[in-house]
Amino acid sequence: MNTDKYPISDTTRMAATYPQPPPYAQPHGAAVVTSVPAVVVVGSNFADTPAVTVCPVCHQNITTRTERSAGLLTWLLCGGLAIVGCIAGCCLIPFCVDACQDVNHYCPNCNHHIYKHKRL
Ligand SMILES: [Zn+2]
Repeated sequence: MNTDKYPISDTTRMAATYPQPPPYAQPHGAAVVTSVPAVVVVGSNFADTPAVTVCPVCHQNITTRTERSAGLLTWLLCGGLAIVGCIAGCCLIPFCVDACQDVNHYCPNCNHHIYKHKRL
């Protein structure tokens, strides 16, 4: 049982692995600039109605402007209606129904496309 194999004491090892953090300098009178964390666009917030979010481009608190566009569900319904015999213009009904179309969310300030809510 020889314990002299490890000459470095525990306190020496602690000082080597944990350097002292730099002191927090708080300048007096200067404006404290807090860094804005990266904006994460969460898809679950966006549905078929305008959503409140922060624009990743202009960093403004905005309520998105929504626009409808034909998506996969629209075309599938159109094809399905055509197959069952609705070929006299009725198969175009999904293109007029908002609930059948995808929803694009845009920033009203800078017009940036933020999110596309897909039905399928
Ligand atoms: Zn914007």
